[in-house]
Amino acid sequence: MIITYPIVETFHSLQGEGYWTGVSAFFIRLGGCDVHCPWCDQKESWSQSNHPRLSCQVLSKQVIETQPSIIIITGGEPLMHDLGPLTQELSATEIPIHLETSGAYPLSGRFDWITFSPKPYKLPDESIYPLVKELKVVISTPEDLEWAEIHAHKVPPGAIKYLQPEWYSKKTQKLVYNHVLKHPQWRVSLQTHKFIGVR
Ligand code: SF4
Repeated sequence: MIITYPIVETFHSLQGEGYWTGVSAFFIRLGGCDVHCPWCDQKESWSQSNHPRLSCQVLSKQVIETQPSIIIITGGEPLMHDLGPLTQELSATEIPIHLETSGAYPLSGRFDWITFSPKPYKLPDESIYPLVKELKVVISTPEDLEWAEIHAHKVPPGAIKYLQPEWYSKKTQKLVYNHVLKHPQWRVSLQTHKFIGVR
């Protein structure tokens, strides 16, 4: 049986955020998200039905042609789908597979790295916490810092913790800056791809 997924876009660029910033990455952005963050910059990804479906084999072929350092499965909320068949196919490329998720659904598939970005608009499934390699919380208000601290206590001690200010808000950047100086377990994540004007 040919298994397909709704694909908003695939592209080769740099990972712009978090621990793997600057690394050559092939992005697979899946359609479908019911988390509905008000500040979401990927609202076109919310629908599952508005996007063409591509098979695991086609996606794997794109990765092989690109030869990135990492594959990033993102969304939308990718865990709305059973990612088992996709990661099984991609694992044949022997390129590390990363997942970016809000954790709103239980994990499927096998990943080398999981970036967890919890959202208050749909709470994470508890099963995600022990699997997290990187916690990345988007900050737009002072209350978001309290939200970030709640999740920092639930991820494994070795997980790397990032606060990422909303891109357009100088006020939020300052908020994050001040918080990291006072709470050194956190690092700042910036959307560096936007600085250099790439996807
Ligand atoms: S979880 Fe991600 S894709 Fe979904 S609404 Fe929030 S920011 Fe947008």
